[in-house]
Amino acid sequence: MNNSFWSPVVHRLTPYVPGEQPKLSNLVKLNTNENPCGPSPRVLAAIQAELSDALRLYPDPNAERLKQAIADYYHVTPAQVFVGNGSDEVLAHVFHALLHHPAPLLFPDITYSFYPVYCGLYGIAFETVPLAEDFTLRVADYLRPNGGIIFANPNAPTGCLLPLADIEWLLERNQKSVVVVDEAYIDFGGETAIALVDRYPNLLVTQTLSKSRSLAGLRVGLAVGHPELIEALERIKNSFNSYPLDRLAIAGAVAAFEDRDHFEHTRRAVIANRAELVVALAELGFAVLPSAANFIFARHPQRDAAALAAALRERHVIVRHFHLPRIEQFLRITVGSPEQNAALLAALGPILAEG
Ligand SMILES: *Cc1c(COP(=O)(O)O)cnc(C)c1O
Repeated sequence: MNNSFWSPVVHRLTPYVPGEQPKLSNLVKLNTNENPCGPSPRVLAAIQAELSDALRLYPDPNAERLKQAIADYYHVTPAQVFVGNGSDEVLAHVFHALLHHPAPLLFPDITYSFYPVYCGLYGIAFETVPLAEDFTLRVADYLRPNGGIIFANPNAPTGCLLPLADIEWLLERNQKSVVVVDEAYIDFGGETAIALVDRYPNLLVTQTLSKSRSLAGLRVGLAVGHPELIEALERIKNSFNSYPLDRLAIAGAVAAFEDRDHFEHTRRAVIANRAELVVALAELGFAVLPSAANFIFARHPQRDAAALAAALRERHVIVRHFHLPRIEQFLRITVGSPEQNAALLAALGPILAEG
């Protein structure tokens, strides 16, 4: 084998590094923001019902049942909905279809680290815009020439929420390029910007079923926006993979949007567990950023974050640490079940006592 077989672009890529998915089963896994509550039983039943001889047939390339279920849920039309194999795939198509222009794409200096990876893949020029000292996003900083704007709300890995009024303030002043709001965590404490898509044809909102609907393993993501934005995404998708959602994913995702009770119940449980975890970490001396997500971002004033993450790992608790400027003293900790959170706190006790 010889790297000269590679297309030139491959040499230039810096791929995204996902959080570890360890093979060990005795770990308290608080590193990739999975939901500790299981998916809706109705989702599992719908997937079971789909397991039949029909698997020999291709799925619906347009996943129309799912688009309709999402449209019903958010009071939009199916023509305003795009679906894909996880929101990472949806975002890849968004970068390709809507954010590749001569002027640079803008996103925060601290945000989902997949954004610069997509820019590298598609050759998109970008500029990062520093968050404020307290890690909040100042929308006024985005009023400059740009080929598009993208940010996560709540932001990752900080968990900070940008009020919907700030998003509307920006949309009013930035009408010549697309503004993408990545709402992977919105159900844990924010208000979706989907309510604004009818008024702002340049607004695209992306979401995922991985976090608030406990379906990271099913790989379903979506985008909502003006039909013309959706049409651009469909053109890219149909030039790439006509069937990104398989039959099981479509059936399961439809059931996930239909079972509102399970969704509300589990989402409230995560929010309540988050509140308890924040208090307990503060008692241990951590400074915790206000979180509207299913994770918290915290630092300990006396302890090195990388050392803490390593010590936790020795005690079979895994959290996420990023070796990145401004946040290298922070840990991103997924809000687990009460038992998982207790195990985290129990492990931290002796680590902090060791001095
Ligand atoms: C988890 C996450 C995604 C990706 O979700 P998938 O649907 O699982 O691909 C997108 N954006 C942010 C900010 C995330 O944290």
